[in-house]
Amino acid sequence: MKKSITILMILALVLTMTTAVFAAKGKIGVAMPTQSLQRWNQDGANMKAQLEEAGYTVDLQYANNNVATQISQLENMILGGADVLVIASIDGSALGTVLETAKLEGIPVIAYDRLIMETDAVSYYATFDNYMVGTIQGEYLEDALNLENRSADDPAYIEIFGGAPDDNNARYFFNGAWDVIKPYVKSGVVVVPSGQTEFEQIATMNWSSANAQTRMDNLIAAHYSAGQELDAVLCSNDSTALGVTNSLLGAGFEKDNFPVITGQDCDIANTKNIIAGYQSMSIFKDTRTLAAQVVEMVKAIRNNEEPEINNTSDYDNGTGIIPTYLCEPVFADINNYKELLIDSGYYTSEQLGL
Ligand code: BGC
Repeated sequence: MKKSITILMILALVLTMTTAVFAAKGKIGVAMPTQSLQRWNQDGANMKAQLEEAGYTVDLQYANNNVATQISQLENMILGGADVLVIASIDGSALGTVLETAKLEGIPVIAYDRLIMETDAVSYYATFDNYMVGTIQGEYLEDALNLENRSADDPAYIEIFGGAPDDNNARYFFNGAWDVIKPYVKSGVVVVPSGQTEFEQIATMNWSSANAQTRMDNLIAAHYSAGQELDAVLCSNDSTALGVTNSLLGAGFEKDNFPVITGQDCDIANTKNIIAGYQSMSIFKDTRTLAAQVVEMVKAIRNNEEPEINNTSDYDNGTGIIPTYLCEPVFADINNYKELLIDSGYYTSEQLGL
């Protein structure tokens, strides 16, 4: 009897000590935009696992793409004693007021993947090089459509689908790609039959597949129903690519004659489309790498050290340059997806239906 009481007391002591050690390391609030897109589930899961492994307690929240929900989640994290906030914002310009409170409380804020705008409460930013994402997409089209060797007598016909206007990344993706393609439009080697080439015209609210599908349906009805050729659709990410692909399939575009479609994130549905021949490429942004980098930032902040940064020129959030760490994106297509996505352990063959 006595022995078991002693064991219980020792267990209780160990438990208290462990909790104290974890609490001492710090509490990290992680705010993610939505669970409806695969990548954010992976980002959240990777952040939580890696932070917990490093000894932090984690409050991970998803806001269903609703700005008010994200704000109230952040308020709760601040009230709950968060030591650092890691935020992938929904509307990059809507968090000023709540982050003012974080600043008053002395809570450092890391902008995750998307820059948070118009507030000096943001301490650091970690993301993949967003302009480079667009450049790679543009160069992929340049190669796939053989633009360098083409003339205006035999132009390539393309349409463009960008991201959400309230996401600061969306313009970087578009500009990166457009800087590659635009000279070909000027010389007549590329033609955009809809004439829609301004960011405001090609943006997709909420990055929604349904919105992209509707816009592609409309473009087909207005410009492609009389047999107009379509060689490529430059899509900024996989959710827009999915909507466009569904629209093209619905309109009867044949697999043998399918336009080149770009994407980003290597979501499972899109990687399956790459394997099936309906999407040409997707940008691979290994969420494990970004999470690991942000965990290193958190550790440095908590240890009163300077986090590693590699860019102090490109990301001004309206209050000044935010010190940034940029990870490097690469592209996956039919030729390298096995090595990048399966051999690296990102997906199993089963997940990709192989
Ligand atoms: C991310 C992309 C993602 C998009 C939609 C962007 O901010 O950088 O990876 O596809 O949001 O969620």
